[in-house]
Amino acid sequence: MSLKREITSKLCSLKNSNNIAIIGAGPAGLMAAEVLSNAGYTPLVFDSKPSAARKFLRAGRGGLNLTHDEESALFSSRYFEAEDFLAPALETFSPTHMRLWAKELGFETYVGSSGKVYPLDKKAAPLLRSWIHRLKANGTQFKMQHKLVSWSKNSWQFQTPDGLIKCSFDGVILALGGASWPSLGSTGEWTKILEKKGLSINPLKPANMGFNVSWSDVFKEKFSGTALKNVILSFTDIKGIFHSKMGELMVSEYGVEGSLIYTYSKQMREMMDRESPCIVYLDLFPHRTLSKLTQELSKSRGKQSLSAFWKRIGLTGIKASMLREVLQKEELKEPELVAKILKKFPLKLDSYRPLEEAISTAGGLAFENLDESLMLNDFAGVFCVGEMLDWEAPTGGYLLTGVMGQGKQAAEGLLKFLIEIQQI
Ligand SMILES: Cc1cc2nc3c(=O)[nH]c(=O)nc-3n(C[C@H](O)[C@H](O)[C@H](O)COP(=O)(O)OP(=O)(O)OC[C@H]3O[C@@H](n4cnc5c(N)ncnc54)[C@H](O)[C@@H]3O)c2cc1C
Repeated sequence: MSLKREITSKLCSLKNSNNIAIIGAGPAGLMAAEVLSNAGYTPLVFDSKPSAARKFLRAGRGGLNLTHDEESALFSSRYFEAEDFLAPALETFSPTHMRLWAKELGFETYVGSSGKVYPLDKKAAPLLRSWIHRLKANGTQFKMQHKLVSWSKNSWQFQTPDGLIKCSFDGVILALGGASWPSLGSTGEWTKILEKKGLSINPLKPANMGFNVSWSDVFKEKFSGTALKNVILSFTDIKGIFHSKMGELMVSEYGVEGSLIYTYSKQMREMMDRESPCIVYLDLFPHRTLSKLTQELSKSRGKQSLSAFWKRIGLTGIKASMLREVLQKEELKEPELVAKILKKFPLKLDSYRPLEEAISTAGGLAFENLDESLMLNDFAGVFCVGEMLDWEAPTGGYLLTGVMGQGKQAAEGLLKFLIEIQQI
């Protein structure tokens, strides 16, 4: 008999015992509930908010990017130093599994031009509705507006609309999220509860966030909300590794944000934690060489204004105004200097945006607290998963794949744990 079938058959005897809790109804917790209910359990899913997976729903607003279609070694490398830690989760729930999972729920997916995978309608709400419907039909029970406020021995205390309640469980999966966008439910308050248990938690920091740049008022007024497309961002990180990538970023009221910035938000945050401000570089004309640009800018402009002359080589709008942000009026007439700046525009990052605004959270519960099934070493039967753990990844579907994979990994670990304690 396969281990999975063996687990399933043994657990059927525990069915309806209702003593398995998943605390946190985000995608990590819901995936754990799916595995447990498929195994014949009726897990209780607790969440502080009135409805489940609010961050997942919010993710759907800009297009729900479920995962990424790329070669598996490259995919794994997106988790930086946590690559090995995430490996079991990605093995149990790879991008292919994610697409199959969505398909089984009734949602075909497609691969966008950049490799990002979306449901056909790009929306989160219909998919979440179907998911929760299937979970409920399969025995998962939801306890909303139940906020975990303390944990002592096997006593879990929740704040509910009817006051405080205490529960005890045979197994618990904590899936409490990070601390970005706290209005959606993940506030990071769990750090205090787990710290009291002696668990080590690395400071929560923003990931996939914007950076402050001191644009002039004129520039901000004219260009905030403008995309800077097809530019190359380059810099050398604190480990001495040189990064360079073409993409798109967005100029905002406070500075810069967008996919190209998020790709490197980890490395740039680390640079700023060491020393700020820090400078990264933008090639604003990646398709023209420095010598070609210099040559074009050195041509006689006759009686033409500088702007009209620049327009002839496509130097207009935001790119022309960026030059004015860093060069003096007289310097703008120096072709070599202008060409040099266009090829290597110094983008001075003053600081990074706060955690509350970030798309995701870096830092969290340290791996050393957990065994290979994501169970706490010092607290048998208690597992931790998802964004509350100390790993990060750029946007691109890596976050959802990682958290749902860990939900599955921990639920499978809990199933094994339950069999073991039954045998004792
Ligand atoms: C604007 C935005 C867009 C995004 N887009 C994408 C995307 O397209 N693709 C992608 O891969 N990722 C995306 N993400 C990131 C992704 O949504 C998160 O990484 C993911 O939701 C984390 O899952 P989780 O289950 O670990 O935590 P969460 O989704 O944060 O869920 C944690 C749950 O725990 C509950 N909770 C917290 N504390 C308590 C407590 N004390 N008691 C009870 N319940 C509690 C919360 O209410 C919440 O429901 C986006 C994030 C944002 C903010």
